[in-house]
Amino acid sequence: MKVSFKELGLVNTREMFAKAVKGGYAIPAFNFNNMEQLQAIVQAAVETKSPVILQVSKGARNYANQTLLRYMAQGAVEYAKELGWKKPQIVLHLDHGDSYELCKSCVDFGFSSVMIDASSLPYEENVKLTRKVVNYAHKYDVTVEAELGVLAGVEDEVSSAVSHYTKPEEVIDFVKKTKCDSLAISIGTSHGAYKFTPEQCTRDPKTGKLVPPPLAFDVLKAIEKKLPGFPIVLHGSSSVPQEYVDMCNQFGGNLPNAIGIPEEQLRKAAKSAVCKINIDSDSRLAMTGAIRRHLAENPGHFDPRQYLKPAREEMKKMYEHKIINVLGSNGKAR
Ligand SMILES: [Zn+2]
Repeated sequence: MKVSFKELGLVNTREMFAKAVKGGYAIPAFNFNNMEQLQAIVQAAVETKSPVILQVSKGARNYANQTLLRYMAQGAVEYAKELGWKKPQIVLHLDHGDSYELCKSCVDFGFSSVMIDASSLPYEENVKLTRKVVNYAHKYDVTVEAELGVLAGVEDEVSSAVSHYTKPEEVIDFVKKTKCDSLAISIGTSHGAYKFTPEQCTRDPKTGKLVPPPLAFDVLKAIEKKLPGFPIVLHGSSSVPQEYVDMCNQFGGNLPNAIGIPEEQLRKAAKSAVCKINIDSDSRLAMTGAIRRHLAENPGHFDPRQYLKPAREEMKKMYEHKIINVLGSNGKAR
């Protein structure tokens, strides 16, 4: 049975993004797979009065079950109301949809936004598939994020990283032909907690810590010039906070050289046409760090609530910090 996102109390990204581009801030897009993450996201959004995008990836669907995640998102809207948010500005978004069928099933299932990621296909095929998804989604007022350019991953060769950047000369044609509502671009962000190899980084002579290469702001600027006011999305934008990496490592973990995107760079991006910033790894690190610490300090505990509670608190703290100090979306909810 089909259901509209509107019946579930969700919103699409259209108005949210228009306001964010104009206001020089970005909307947080946090991935979730479980209840504690969802509680932390909703609590943080309510307390900071920030609009928020709940993201479900293919991996999350496989892990938690799509039906359960859908109802959890629906529950999140009701939970937000219970916490005092009269008209929650919550989007349920499919992250990295890789086929028309998957996107269609999410639209039918009550998602208010979907991403079709055909960025690995040749340009014309990316246009064709994206257009097909847009045609279906727009019938139901569901907004669509598309992608041009390929995000560098940790396995990529340094020398090929540049050629993966989004080509500014393609964006006008792509947006015109596909009618997508927002565009994910590649300017040097990357998925995961190991965004760069030590060889790609320099070392701070004072602290000896790795300093990642800067984002390609010239590419971002060129894209903004081609598409004035058009919503731009950054994937792979966790900063991999050193305190959480240290917390994991101090209590039995082994995450050598985990490294992310410095928050100053994300803050700078948020002030531009970038209006959605995806953060996933930081939540994983906060949760794992807190659980490791709790169990190391309390070896007798075996009730999951005992260690999931501090994990939830740590994630909430992290989400609030991102909203207030990195994205600037606090106070922007209606
Ligand atoms: Zn992504």
